[in-house]
Amino acid sequence: MIQTFKLKHGKDFSTQLRKAHQVGNVALKTHTLSTADVKQFGLPSYIAQGVLRKYSRNKKLKQVRSVKLTINNPAGFRFESGVVSVKCLSLALPWYYRNFETLNQIELDSQYAYVSVSFPDKPQIVPQSWIGVDRNTTGHVAVAANPSNGKAWVFGVRIPHVHQKYLALRRELQKKGHYKVVKKIKNRESRIVRDLTHKISRSIVELAKSQNAGIKLEWLKGIRQSSRWRSSKLHSWSPYRLEQQLLYKSKMEGIPITYVEARNTSKDCSRCGCVGIRTGNLFECQNCRRVGNAHVNGAFNIAQRRSISIPTFKTQRWRAP
Ligand SMILES: [Zn+2]
Repeated sequence: MIQTFKLKHGKDFSTQLRKAHQVGNVALKTHTLSTADVKQFGLPSYIAQGVLRKYSRNKKLKQVRSVKLTINNPAGFRFESGVVSVKCLSLALPWYYRNFETLNQIELDSQYAYVSVSFPDKPQIVPQSWIGVDRNTTGHVAVAANPSNGKAWVFGVRIPHVHQKYLALRRELQKKGHYKVVKKIKNRESRIVRDLTHKISRSIVELAKSQNAGIKLEWLKGIRQSSRWRSSKLHSWSPYRLEQQLLYKSKMEGIPITYVEARNTSKDCSRCGCVGIRTGNLFECQNCRRVGNAHVNGAFNIAQRRSISIPTFKTQRWRAP
């Protein structure tokens, strides 16, 4: 499985990007693949090579618009002790994700590095049970539950605190007109939330793996349509992001993920199926007297529901959050 990770590189490559633009235009005109033909622009040869490969065979394009610094020669980059590096650009990117099998290509624009890597595919397990995951859209947590052993797990309790803390801080700074600091804090918050989302998704996949279980999620339509959930600038908790991470992490472990209908997962009683009363985070069933956390009840419901088929389901278009 090939995945492309999008990471902020935090460097100024404007000079190299300008040169790459010129090299790209030469490649379109002359169809050359030889770096000697573009030596005069002074672009490091690994990058010149990557740009030439990308554009010299392109017959449709008339002019290069937005160019990326492309390195696809394996000698041009390195992966060692958790760092992906491009020596000719003095670039080193810390790698927080799972170790990959091969590093295929690195592309850089003015802000981001797009790192394409391959993971070995694992055969899908035959699940002995199902873990339901309730991704709360407002409470900033995920709750997992497995009805086969009656256990439930709560993840991500730190996230609401993080969000509240930074929101208050940002408002105060905004009042005083410290806009640069506000932006910096936004970035810090998104980094913290992203790391937490990674930890949560990893924990859920590990949990499923250890119990030989598959994962069931609610089919939340809104999170795909609303730009609020999809935005890459999003700095707070996003159930969509958690879903995307669960999808690729479970695929790497061979754990199946299916979806269930989202209707009434928080209202129905997971023990007797009757409609209960939900007050905030508390769930009460008048019929069987079940009282407990509403999300735990929801997670049990999700695990017990029948999977539905999603015709437009795509996993390959995942972007690193
Ligand atoms: Zn009940």
